[in-house]
Amino acid sequence: MNRSYDDNNVFAKILRNEINCSKVLENEFALSFMDINPQAKIHILVIPKNKYVDFYDFNSAAKSREKIDFWKLVNELIDKYDISNNGFRLITNSGKDGNQDVPHFHVHLLGGQNLGRMIN
Ligand code: AMP
Repeated sequence: MNRSYDDNNVFAKILRNEINCSKVLENEFALSFMDINPQAKIHILVIPKNKYVDFYDFNSAAKSREKIDFWKLVNELIDKYDISNNGFRLITNSGKDGNQDVPHFHVHLLGGQNLGRMIN
């Protein structure tokens, strides 16, 4: 069953400029900013500007241009921080079992150090 979008989630407030974020890069359909509670030397969140609850919702419902812009922004961040050689990790949490805290689709881009094993 699809979960409905909650307009009061913190990333929706960032997109409406109701709260600040530490913006890194953006394009027409996607925005990236520093995670407020970084888990690695580089910890950036990438979000679509339109309303999607999680990866499944985005992957099902977003238009091609939105998807292209989203993943293009991820690569621009990888270039900006020069982490393609040393590597990085992309994480997206979904729902209860994924321990998703903010119900607006986002990808965590982590890097700048060895990130250890995937699940400890
Ligand atoms: P998730 O558990 O995948 O939903 O991750 C949500 C992430 O959002 C966490 O890593 C939080 O540290 C981060 N976060 C929550 N509020 C903010 C905020 N206002 N600005 C930046 N990052 C935030």
